[in-house]
Amino acid sequence: MSDSVSGADRAAEGFRAVFGAGPEGVWAAPGRVNLIGEHTDYNDGFVMPLALPHTCLAAARARTDGVLRLHSGDASGGVVELRVDGLAPVAEAGAGGDRGGWAAYPAGVVWALREAGLLSGAAAGGADLHYTSTVPTGAGLSSSAALEVVTATALNELYGLGLEPLRIAQLCQRAENDFVGVPCGIMDQTASACCADGHALFLDTREPALRQVPFDLAAEGLRLLVVDTRVKHELGDGAYANRRAACEAGARALGVPALRDVAYERLEDALATLAGDETLVRRVRHVVTENRRVEEVIERLDAGATRSIGPILTAGHASCRDDFEISCAELDLVVETANAAGALGARMTGGGFGGSAIVLVEEADAESVGKAVTEAFAAAGYRTPRIFPAVPSAGARRLA
Ligand code: ADP
Ligand code: MG
Repeated sequence: MSDSVSGADRAAEGFRAVFGAGPEGVWAAPGRVNLIGEHTDYNDGFVMPLALPHTCLAAARARTDGVLRLHSGDASGGVVELRVDGLAPVAEAGAGGDRGGWAAYPAGVVWALREAGLLSGAAAGGADLHYTSTVPTGAGLSSSAALEVVTATALNELYGLGLEPLRIAQLCQRAENDFVGVPCGIMDQTASACCADGHALFLDTREPALRQVPFDLAAEGLRLLVVDTRVKHELGDGAYANRRAACEAGARALGVPALRDVAYERLEDALATLAGDETLVRRVRHVVTENRRVEEVIERLDAGATRSIGPILTAGHASCRDDFEISCAELDLVVETANAAGALGARMTGGGFGGSAIVLVEEADAESVGKAVTEAFAAAGYRTPRIFPAVPSAGARRLA
């Protein structure tokens, strides 16, 4: 629905209502779930996301007066108007300065393009952009990356910049890190920019190198459910920075550039070196075993043994819960309940402390497993979770 012609029509209609004339085009960029590889992207490691059918759409038109006008049908507050040559990172706005709200994400993309020297001549002229999205926000499904990537993809074409999807992802990460001030890794933006229909995306974040891995669930009678717990625990932001710092400390203590460089086969030696700092031992063990789990999942998928990735997903959850300590009661309940109800495997996905989990099930069991999770949430007094299938979908693209 979201990437259908009617979605593009709605976005164009919204643009016309706000800006008075029609757009030059409509673009889409998806949200994502991560199949396996959590908190590995900032350790130069491996991740394996897939794009959702849920997309952020941007209807856009280039301007010639250096003004950027941003409007979202999903945010209150009307049109945000900025000058391209006046864009400065939110952090530099100073104490009491406007944190920028939602518009910081697309404004940050324009800033990143400018900082990369890509906005000269007509490309410095600004643009009008209207957004409408079906990606749930704050659910760990990367609505922010979808917003950034659709902006960069639209401007790439409007300005004729000729940027490759991976370069777009890198510029969008720069926007989120250095303009908005969120220290995220490269996974989310890469997933939104580079994923392919019917595939999961293997990303080696060091190179960076990409491989599209066939992941046709429907053909195998399988389903991957997303369970949005609809909770977001506050400690998430501070904990993310804390986990990054722990990983850097672990790499330093082991004398390697990044935890990616700790071979799985040498893990016991590495942990012995860190003995005495039990927290650090656990953090390092998560990252090293998680990288190995990504490799194992790829091996299974390449061998056509999709069902057998279930236990690896569940092992990944245990590692996130016990070693990296980024799960929460709601996510644990999804995993325990789904597995007890006959799922092939399940894990939290995304940064943690709330957001979403994924559950791999036989198609025939999808309904009963979803029902079991919903009932368990009701019994625990939690909000009703939102459950929907993750159909591996296309990355950023032009719709109209
Ligand atoms: P996630 O990326 O997991 O959904 P984030 O906290 O990283 O969660 O990003 C959510 C934020 O992104 C929202 O609070 C909002 O500022 C912005 N955002 C995402 N999609 C839209 C949209 N369609 N319109 C306006 N803002 C959006
Ligand atoms: Mg985000």
